[in-house]
Amino acid sequence: MPGCQPLKLLRSRLEEMKSQRLDRTLIQVGPVTGPRVMVRGRDCLLMASNDYLGLSRHPLLSRAAQEAAESWGTSSGASRLVSGTLDGHVALERAIADFKGAEAAIFLATGYMTNLAVLTGLAGPGDLIVSDELNHASIIDASRLCRAQVEIYSHCNVEEAGRLLEMAPCSGLKLLVTDGVFSMDGDLAPLPDLKELARKYQALLVIDDAHATGVWGKEGRGTLEHFGMKPGPEVVNVGTISKALGGFGGFVAGASEVIETLVHRARSLLYTTAPPPTQVAVAQAALGLVDAEPWRRDKLHQLSARLRRNFMDMGFRMLSREGPIVPVLVGEAGKAAELAEGLWREGVFAPAIRPPTVAQGTSRIRFSVTAAHSEEDMDYTAEALAKASQEAGL
Ligand SMILES: *Cc1c(COP(=O)(O)O)cnc(C)c1O
Repeated sequence: MPGCQPLKLLRSRLEEMKSQRLDRTLIQVGPVTGPRVMVRGRDCLLMASNDYLGLSRHPLLSRAAQEAAESWGTSSGASRLVSGTLDGHVALERAIADFKGAEAAIFLATGYMTNLAVLTGLAGPGDLIVSDELNHASIIDASRLCRAQVEIYSHCNVEEAGRLLEMAPCSGLKLLVTDGVFSMDGDLAPLPDLKELARKYQALLVIDDAHATGVWGKEGRGTLEHFGMKPGPEVVNVGTISKALGGFGGFVAGASEVIETLVHRARSLLYTTAPPPTQVAVAQAALGLVDAEPWRRDKLHQLSARLRRNFMDMGFRMLSREGPIVPVLVGEAGKAAELAEGLWREGVFAPAIRPPTVAQGTSRIRFSVTAAHSEEDMDYTAEALAKASQEAGL
């Protein structure tokens, strides 16, 4: 179609993003073997994976997937409400509830869909959502979708969150929603204070522990465990199997009233095909590995501390004090892209994170550490950053 107007319009919008260096590409990578990956023909150290415990190549998990495919097939065949709730789903949900110390749990296809389920399932017009400004995109999307009143507080500002809970005229359900670990900064939510707020204002506290499950807390239960706290009935715990657990899928654990409500109302749980048996079997086996191989967690935190120390010795300011998300703030989007390119030339793959994923002027390289890394990898990454930042004139 010559002069196709809608495509011209799309093209000009894309050009606009390119001119601001906000264009995006889906970078194709070769197979990941341990901590290494092929990127654009170069063998690189992978410093950008959320496979924190290094479980995605664990033989136990691939065997679990194989066995499930052989005995149950490769599809669940229907939605959860029809004939898609298999034995494996029920057993996994029991295991997740126990893992999280909750009454009940439900498993969904992804963490993204889990947040949609939790917020749209629990809240609607007349209800109130009080949410941290740096919460994950899926929380932002779900908050908009559910048509509840949404109030945003500045990052980790407990006082402001309290004011919003107090001031908002709400006779319905109140949800105080936070990431446990913030995905692009790597810092932790002030959970003891938020839990106190939730109790004081009779709100449910929704904690998205996507980056914390398997990683934080002595036994990998997440951020509440890290703070030495018990879940309690007012806590709704969201998590994902897709990151540290080396599989795929999301879950929510909480009071039976919460889970039952989702079974009645959550569209991203009900109007989609149930997660396949392979995915369920991997999740179940991965939960077991969190307990069976605690050394992975210890190693992960030791390596993360080493990388952070290396960066600080070089004079970089850190956004988080602990844990495997180690972002280096650059500022301007173009500079961040240049730095990422330099790192790639040095054989380190860690792409630039730019707006709209992060706020204007806070573009960064988000390094992430996994238990598959070594101490040498941490030192190599620091040397590569030193060279690349010199080249980029930083
Ligand atoms: C990654 C992430 C999700 C989405 O999880 P998926 O299983 O990848 O869909 C949700 N919340 C937070 C905070 C995340 O970082």
